[in-house]
Amino acid sequence: MSIASERLVEIRNQVQRHLDGNQSPKYNQIQKRSLVSRIKRQLKQEDAVLVAHYYTEPEIQALADETGGCVADSLEMARFGKDHSASTLVVAGVRFMGETAKILTPKKRVLMPTLEATCSLDIGCPIDEFSQFCDSNPERTVVVYANTSAAVKARADWVVTSSIALEVAHHLTDLDQPILWAPDKHLGDYVRRETGADILMWEGACIVHEEFKARGIHDLKHIYKDAALLAHPESPASVVEVADFIGSTSQIIQAAKDLPNQIFIIATDQGIFYKLKELCPEKEFLIAPTAGTGATCRSCANCPWMAMNELQSLTDVFSEPVQEIVVDEGLAKKAMIPLERMLNFSAKNH
Ligand code: SF4
Repeated sequence: MSIASERLVEIRNQVQRHLDGNQSPKYNQIQKRSLVSRIKRQLKQEDAVLVAHYYTEPEIQALADETGGCVADSLEMARFGKDHSASTLVVAGVRFMGETAKILTPKKRVLMPTLEATCSLDIGCPIDEFSQFCDSNPERTVVVYANTSAAVKARADWVVTSSIALEVAHHLTDLDQPILWAPDKHLGDYVRRETGADILMWEGACIVHEEFKARGIHDLKHIYKDAALLAHPESPASVVEVADFIGSTSQIIQAAKDLPNQIFIIATDQGIFYKLKELCPEKEFLIAPTAGTGATCRSCANCPWMAMNELQSLTDVFSEPVQEIVVDEGLAKKAMIPLERMLNFSAKNH
């Protein structure tokens, strides 16, 4: 079995262990209200703000909105946390988002409902192997996706999110710089096709987006003839090729608002439906079909690591066990360089 296959099996097992052991508390309305008011009180007392990703549970997104926090993609989460005056950031998402917040705001306390929430892209790009890959290709500009560890970011020239990946690739191509791209092969492939950039690829993938199937989408479009397919570029090429719009989570939400269609097929994590329905209540959203052999129904279109963020774990975030993100100072200084490059580039180009 190759190293990549072994890693994939390890990831699948980790996901399954989480799903098997995930005894999510089912709250009744009274319990839910009590948890929500406790979190609101704690956020105020602790001078904290809640920064949540679009893929988290609807009640967490609602809480972030109601308490003056933000619900966003990883680029906007990073920007919001950096600019906000609160001394504590509570990041509801996966670990690399907490690490990014800590790197950008080293003086702030960064807490997460769980430190175990990771990402298959992060797991699939260990620093030792990645460093060797970079060392073997010193002529290439190293561009890494935000979904990576602090150590991998520290090794990179650029960090990108899916919101600005195309623009950065165009920019580097204009400068005649060949790219070493990691870790998402589908996003990298999409960027290469769209920009013609010279890209050498790391072979990582998101276990959620990789499960979308073009065949199932084709069948769905046959039934809903006027539906537009909005796809995240972490999806396989066969899905991206038939999409009516390709973009990051925030770009998908914008497209749903702007396009005249009444029905949309969505190829990204189902968590996004909360914002889609809130912002476009008159439109209908269908999740793109998955038919993965390795994934369970719950892992398809529903990131198991994002699902680890729950109301109960949010109420525990200020008590024990301490859920604070710590990043080695030296590493953070190095990782700060490509992260700030991304934020500055994004600010100039939007
Ligand atoms: S949805 Fe995919 S890319 Fe996003 S955190 Fe989960 S595994 Fe990572």
